[in-house]
Amino acid sequence: MAVREDEATRRLRQALVSELKTEGHIRTPAVEKAFLTVPRHFFVPPDVSPGEAYRDEVIPLMPGVATLSQPSIVALMLEELAVEAGMKVLEIGTASGYNAALLACLTGDPALVHTVEIEGRLARRAQRNLEATGYGEVRVRVGDGSLGWGEAAPFARIVLTAEAATLSWTLLRQLTDGGLLLAPLAFPGFAALLLRLWANGEEVRGGFTASPVAFVPLRGEYGAGEDGRETAAPRIQEALRLADRRGLAAERLSFSQRLALYLITTAIAESSTSPSGEVAEEGWRRFGAAGQPELERLGVALRPADGGRPGELAFPRRDCVFVLELPPERNPERGGESPSREVVQ
Ligand code: SAH
Repeated sequence: MAVREDEATRRLRQALVSELKTEGHIRTPAVEKAFLTVPRHFFVPPDVSPGEAYRDEVIPLMPGVATLSQPSIVALMLEELAVEAGMKVLEIGTASGYNAALLACLTGDPALVHTVEIEGRLARRAQRNLEATGYGEVRVRVGDGSLGWGEAAPFARIVLTAEAATLSWTLLRQLTDGGLLLAPLAFPGFAALLLRLWANGEEVRGGFTASPVAFVPLRGEYGAGEDGRETAAPRIQEALRLADRRGLAAERLSFSQRLALYLITTAIAESSTSPSGEVAEEGWRRFGAAGQPELERLGVALRPADGGRPGELAFPRRDCVFVLELPPERNPERGGESPSREVVQ
């Protein structure tokens, strides 16, 4: 449905979309169309002008609790989420309702979009924003979304718009077979990385994208900081500092390689009680043995908590086990790059 608006706001929106395309944040016609369609200035607080609503900037909604992410991050997430028409979708963290409206455009049917918000006041405002812009059919629920929305499951796509420290198996089980979950996962003292997981039969696996992101923390039962990792944080941070010194010394490490080194080091720290120096040493060794991989080459598998299996780089997080999968160790004799390829004539 087209809302009543003047030509000026439409032009502001088009200018923002051109910028997001030029910078590579919007990559597909479907996401472009959604951004051109949803009037973002209807979703911002009353003291924010349309001019401000169409800048690539974050807009505070409730201090420390909720922000309307900058459009480039929203676009990045939607491109990663690859929503197709007709898919049932779950969003955790409604806030303004803007992303829910974009999801409604992508699914082609607002009633397929389910969104959960823990703050009642925000949820009610989001509902009003959605109604005012023609997306009143979106299903908005007040509650703790860290455990998903069991009654409405399964979902072909699940997206968290708040930083999680872990994921609950209850939530992962709400994906359809072949479904995709996208979540910013926080690593204390380091960054949040976007985790992309596919459900495939009994398995959930995927990997991280190499763009660190920043969101407000997820709250609720499976919210951030409630799995006891705070106690391990100083040791992990020290190990990361040591790893970083090593990474910096090896001048040619790319940003993405350094993220991989951080992640391996964090996984070792979380799966052991070794002192930070040893963790950093082991992290560097495994990173080197795997051929100094870029972050995108690491795999992540999740299983219900059943303890790690021998030889795995696995660390438990409440009801899940995270398994970090490294590229196979390489034969140092051959040095350098991936195994040589035969030239077939
Ligand atoms: N997608 C939003 C921005 C999200 S900000 C938009 O387009 O405007 C993150 C939101 O997640 C906040 O509103 C916060 O209250 C909410 N949140 C945090 N923990 C939550 C939980 N466990 N369940 C549901 N919502 C949660």
